[in-house]
Amino acid sequence: MKRLSLRWRMTLWYGAAVAASLLITGIALVILARHVLADRMDHALREELREISLELEMSVGLAEFQNAANARFFHHDIYEFAVFTADGQVVFLSAGLQNLESSNFPVDTAKADIQTSGTVLPWGAQLLVATWTKASSFGPLTVLSATSLNPVTDEVRRLESMIGVVFPLATLIALTGGYWLSGRALNPVRELALAAGSMSINCLDKRVPVTNPHDEIGQLATTLNSLISRLETAVTEIRRFTADASHEIRTPLAAIRMEAELALSRIRSDNEYRLALSVVVEEVTRLGRLADQLLDLSRHDAGLRQKCTARINVSHVLHETVEKLTGISKSKGVKLTLDCEGIPVALGDEIRLRQAFCNVLENAIKYTASGGSVSVCCKVQQKQIRIEFRDTGIGIYPEHIPRLFERFYRVDESRSQNTGGAGLGLPIARAHVQSCFGEISITSKPGVGTAVLVLLPVLDELESKAEFTLNGSMAAAGI
Ligand code: ADP
Repeated sequence: MKRLSLRWRMTLWYGAAVAASLLITGIALVILARHVLADRMDHALREELREISLELEMSVGLAEFQNAANARFFHHDIYEFAVFTADGQVVFLSAGLQNLESSNFPVDTAKADIQTSGTVLPWGAQLLVATWTKASSFGPLTVLSATSLNPVTDEVRRLESMIGVVFPLATLIALTGGYWLSGRALNPVRELALAAGSMSINCLDKRVPVTNPHDEIGQLATTLNSLISRLETAVTEIRRFTADASHEIRTPLAAIRMEAELALSRIRSDNEYRLALSVVVEEVTRLGRLADQLLDLSRHDAGLRQKCTARINVSHVLHETVEKLTGISKSKGVKLTLDCEGIPVALGDEIRLRQAFCNVLENAIKYTASGGSVSVCCKVQQKQIRIEFRDTGIGIYPEHIPRLFERFYRVDESRSQNTGGAGLGLPIARAHVQSCFGEISITSKPGVGTAVLVLLPVLDELESKAEFTLNGSMAAAGI
């Protein structure tokens, strides 16, 4: 079944709420009116009863009372009166009660105070009757005053029919007002939907209007705008990443093509072919490395690489990395040293952490001139493993530092040195360090050197070499 629109649902809820409160108010009014009118009538009836009783008390003899009562109480617009003796003999009856007997009235002679009750006369008239059994000089008498209940019933009926007219009318007005109000309240939502609907991946620079940032619609619009902003940043990032990646792939491809075309342009010597092929192999290796790096990053982005929670012997990983790069540093004339206190253990994936250290250390060696030095220092401080890679290389100007972890970002000077990197080493290092629950940061001074700091939460420290059996690498670590 098709659900009603929000506007109609709001209207109906509003109408139902107004109708319910009107109904409750109406019922309460009728009950109250009935109660007040009956109370007032009862009070007046008792007053009249006291009047005729007073007359009775002041009269000397029944005949005098009957004369006085005939004069004062026989004809009355609203009230009727009657007086009976204890054995039911009629002493006085007003005009409206002629031919009636004491048995027509509910009288409890045992009670001495005034009682009121309703009664229906033989011809159908409904009366409210007040009775009082009194001892008088003529013996015990029952005095009663009565009045028709019709005025109260009529009054209540009038009120009921008035409510009957007002209720549907007010409900109708509430429904109309509710429809108009909900239309007005939902107008900004409609505008918001229109504005959001007109957006596409190509025009994410637009924003939905925020009329009042403090109301609910304004908050929704603000949230929507911040979502669009995040989308815009992500889309820009993806576009830049794609453009940079294509550019990086095109460069070695163009080099391969040029080399091959040059080699094929005429007959060449074996040596020339060998040279051309070695260039091709170099470029293909670079392409392969780039493909691996891109795959690595896209896996990280897609969240395919779940955070691994294996225990890593950081000291062992550092020793392995330094060992691997010792050859390169020696051939460059750069002194490489490692100082590791204790055997700290971190959580994560050993392969990824080794890759991160390798990227950082490769950079340090790459950007340090012959005669310089690269030091790696690892210690545990305040429940953190601090690994510092320090070099005495060319350094980095401060304006580049905040962007170093952006993908494909390279500092111009290093580019000109043709180091062969694609600007993905540091972003990959950061992704891997983060996957081991750590952080990475860089400080540098141009011409003095660079320091890369990796902080990892320490799990514990291995106390003796005997415990060092992680991944069965005790022997490989050489500690
Ligand atoms: P690449 O693979 O091109 O080296 P990275 O992401 O590893 O890319 O580094 C980005 C840039 O940061 C490099 O182009 C380089 O200029 C600069 N850089 C990184 N490490 C160092 C360092 N130790 N000394 C000087 N410059 C560095």
